[in-house]
Formats: sequence, C-alpha cells, structure tokens
Amino acid sequence: MDCMETRTLLGSYLDRELDRKSVIAVGRHLDGCGECKRMFDLHSSITSAIRKRATYHPASASLANRIRAQIAQAAIRPENSRPPRVTRPLWNRWLQLGSAVAAAVIITSIATTQLASNSGNQMIAEQIINGHSRAILTSHQIDVASSDQHTVKPWLSSKLDFSPTVADLTTAGFPLRGGRLDYVDNRPVAVLVYGHRQHVIDLFIWPDDGVTDRSRTRSFSKRGLNVLHWSAAGMTHWAVSDLNSADLETFAERYASSK
Ligand SMILES: [Zn+2]
Repeated sequence: MDCMETRTLLGSYLDRELDRKSVIAVGRHLDGCGECKRMFDLHSSITSAIRKRATYHPASASLANRIRAQIAQAAIRPENSRPPRVTRPLWNRWLQLGSAVAAAVIITSIATTQLASNSGNQMIAEQIINGHSRAILTSHQIDVASSDQHTVKPWLSSKLDFSPTVADLTTAGFPLRGGRLDYVDNRPVAVLVYGHRQHVIDLFIWPDDGVTDRSRTRSFSKRGLNVLHWSAAGMTHWAVSDLNSADLETFAERYASSK
C-alpha cells in the first residue's frame, strides 16, 4: 500500500470502518512511513481529544433551519447537477462543521501533558495489535517453539537484555506454545505465545520505564482484539488476543500469580 492510498483510508482506519485486511495493510505502511505516521498521529490525537474534551450543544433554531433547507434543496436537485464531491482532510471537515472555536481550543489543549500518558498507552496498544496481527498474517508467531518454560526463557534471555518470567499455565488451560521477539516502543521485547482452545494469546513483556502507572490494569478493545496492560515486578505486560476479555483477564491473573 502506498502513501496516497494510506492517506485516503486514514479517516476510515481511525473510525474503524476498514476490513481486517486493509487495517493490516494500513498498519504496516504506518510502521514504515514516518510522513504518514505523523499524519496519523495528528488525526488520532485530534479525534481522541474531541471525543474526550468536546462539549455538545444543540444547534440553534436558525442553524437547524438552514441545514434542513440545504438538505431539502439537495434532495430536489437532479442527480447530474450535484456539485462534485471533494474529499477533504478530516479536520478541515470538522472546521467546516462549525466547530472552529472548539477545534482551536482542543488543538491548544493537546499540547498539555494530561493526554500524554493515555495517548502513549494508545500508541503502544496500536503497536501491540499491529505486532500480533502481523505475526498471525505472516504465520510467523513463534521463533522458539516449545511448551517447556525452561527452553523458552533461556532462548529469550539470550536475545534480550532482560529475562522475562515464562510461566507454565497448562493446568490453568493456557498451554505455552513458544516465544518470539518483536520491536515495540523503540525497543526489542519478548513475546510469549500461549494458547487457549483455538485462540492465540501474545504476551508482550519488557522492563518498566518507571513512568507507567503500576496501580491500574488498562484494557483496550480494537479491531476485534482485546488488549490488557499491566505492570508487575518491574516489567510492563501487554496481552493481546481475539479471546473474550473475561478469559483474557483470567489469563492475566493466572500469569501474574504464577512464579
Ligand atoms: Zn506513506
């Protein structure tokens, strides 16, 4: 997928309107293209700021009437005299929708750090989902295939500058299938691959940066995947799977309480 195509699909990508194949293609392009990634970051920060911050006001009677009149006019206009449809960047459309003042306030407040940790987590959640989707799509889920924690752990430790806890969760219904390496948040990370019935769970692990809010488990749900994030024992953990969120939570609990 090239830049042009990616940018055309960016709005639908953010609104989660694309099919899985396109989502993966766009995600892949964004991973490798700084220019499109910057555009994506801008759009997504504006989208999330609007979702979080914007207040809603009913349209005034005169505005509502003007809109109704325009719709009525468009409805009676013959098909071939319709003005050509112009695709504009997302935020131009918002500005046009009369939210110029709101958007200006929002763009200013994006600069505040309040959103930083949340959007940081969102960005990592995206990378985790992309990593998981890529592994599934390319059938490259496992670098070291073994159900033995004593095989997987030394293999990962030899490739990384830390040693992740590799738990045997077979009796809990989550047999270990193996491990692989991935690259998330600008660093190499460990991925433990567990199974649960026909589902695959990827558990991404890397050392805590000390900034993460340890007290809370956060969950995200995107593109039909559930993501669970927690910190423990100096490590950041991100579990991702198409498993339902309750079972994924059970998995996280079992993993966290194993030693
Ligand atoms: Zn590009």
